[in-house]
Amino acid sequence: MKMEVGVLKNANGSAIVEMGRTKVLTAVYGPREMHPRHLALPDRAVLRVRYHMTPFSTDERKNPALSRREIEISKVIREALEASILVETFPRTTIDVFSEVLQADAGTRLVALMSASLAVADAGIPMRDLIAGVAVGKADGTLVLDLNEEEDMWGEADMPIAMMPSLSQVALLQLNGSLSGGEFRAALQMASKGIDELYRMEKEALMSKYSAYKEVN
Ligand code: UDP
Repeated sequence: MKMEVGVLKNANGSAIVEMGRTKVLTAVYGPREMHPRHLALPDRAVLRVRYHMTPFSTDERKNPALSRREIEISKVIREALEASILVETFPRTTIDVFSEVLQADAGTRLVALMSASLAVADAGIPMRDLIAGVAVGKADGTLVLDLNEEEDMWGEADMPIAMMPSLSQVALLQLNGSLSGGEFRAALQMASKGIDELYRMEKEALMSKYSAYKEVN
């Protein structure tokens, strides 16, 4: 695992997160004036998210145009991220989030969501909490944490979960395949342990940027 914030000069906030062989870079711009203006909302900022896989991120070259899958994942990430941001603080503005998958080995939506959460925090935008997430699944009858691409593709179930740990709230939960009630509860427990560890690393990544500033000044 690797997490680093403030990695891009021209964005208001940025972060790169690596989880195993999955790597995602996110840039955040805003809050800034919304164009076209008629899409602005009088009571809150509009959050726009683009999740995109680079053509070189997968085994087989990916068409660079946005696929249906990428449009859906962008929506899922936006809904999760919006719950964590105090959007009502910045009416009539937009916050733009661009997540680029540099290398994919399953779990890209969660790694993108974590890098987006860190990039929003790096931009200084007020938040309720950071978001941390991991997938739990079932492969060959066994529950596994943080699936790789083979486990994701050939396993019996894949359940990405993201939380706002300090608030004990779920920000994202999807399930592809099927789990029994008992397996579901065990999977939630496994995910929650992983999420606590990821949350700790996120806070460390933010603190290491700002402690470096403190040392310079
Ligand atoms: N994948 C790929 N090409 C694609 C879409 C997906 O190689 O066009 C791979 C990639 O490794 C991805 C994995 O399949 O991480 C699982 O994709 P899924 O839709 O389950 O989303 P993710 O687990 O990445 O959030």
